[in-house]
Amino acid sequence: MKLFDLSGRVAVVTGGNGGIGLGMAKGMALAGATIVVAGRDAAKNTAAVKELQGLGATASAIAVDVLKEESCHALIADTVKQHGRLDILVNNAGMSIRKQPQDFTAAEWHKVLDSNLTSAFLCSQAAYPAMKKAGAGKVINIGSMMSIFGAAFATAYAASKGGMVQMTKAMATAWAKDNIQVNSILPGWIDTALTRGAREQVEGLHESVLKRTPAARWGVPDDFAGIAVFLAAPASDFVTGAAITVDGGYSVQG
Ligand code: NDP
Repeated sequence: MKLFDLSGRVAVVTGGNGGIGLGMAKGMALAGATIVVAGRDAAKNTAAVKELQGLGATASAIAVDVLKEESCHALIADTVKQHGRLDILVNNAGMSIRKQPQDFTAAEWHKVLDSNLTSAFLCSQAAYPAMKKAGAGKVINIGSMMSIFGAAFATAYAASKGGMVQMTKAMATAWAKDNIQVNSILPGWIDTALTRGAREQVEGLHESVLKRTPAARWGVPDDFAGIAVFLAAPASDFVTGAAITVDGGYSVQG
């Protein structure tokens, strides 16, 4: 068995057009997978596909808004239509609205929960028939340090990311009989468009992360290439329902 070989496999990465999603897509591309980049921003989609093709991979983009159920279903249907199969789904699309809990509107709450958690549920549900038919599948859900910890500005985001870990465990339990492994990755603090916003809004965040992270640096998207390959490949066939931190030691620092 080739433990880390993804040749012939087809992977969909929601939010794969930048940041952590693109870092994971690049790793899987280098391991031989065909990548479908799924995001809203057409220019980012095109640039990401170009970057992946530059690595020698087969890659394409499908425009998706994961806030819409029909868009999630179309993403999976179009992937199977274009590439004949779907082996790996990475539920990575996400966003945050940073406010104190008392200041959230119901609409803001729902937007964060729907973008981060409900979208992963809908895409996974859409992907299940293709994976079941193939007799195997890998679902990778992106959590956060907010799956474990709290922060005053992250009520909705933390709820969504905590939910992601528990949803992962439930799906892993349900789909083990179908040889579909479902795991989550909990990133530490990573330098992306998302956290550039956080650093502007939350005073002292940059320094406090550096101080608490034993690796003494912010993460970069390429730090997620290896874990994505592991969780997408035969190497992880007996790993399911796990929540794996990739955080430079942030969560184990006392
Ligand atoms: P980015 O802002 O770079 O990436 C977010 C991605 O999500 C974009 O590609 C965006 O695509 C996509 N996206 C957001 N909303 C939608 C939508 N409605 N439909 C389709 N795509 C959507 O940030 P990160 O790379 O940092 O974030 C990636 C994931 O990692 C998120 O789930 C985030 O919560 C998580 N994470 C990030 C951490 C960090 O420190 N950076 C830490 C812990 C978790 P588009 O631009 O096309 O809309």
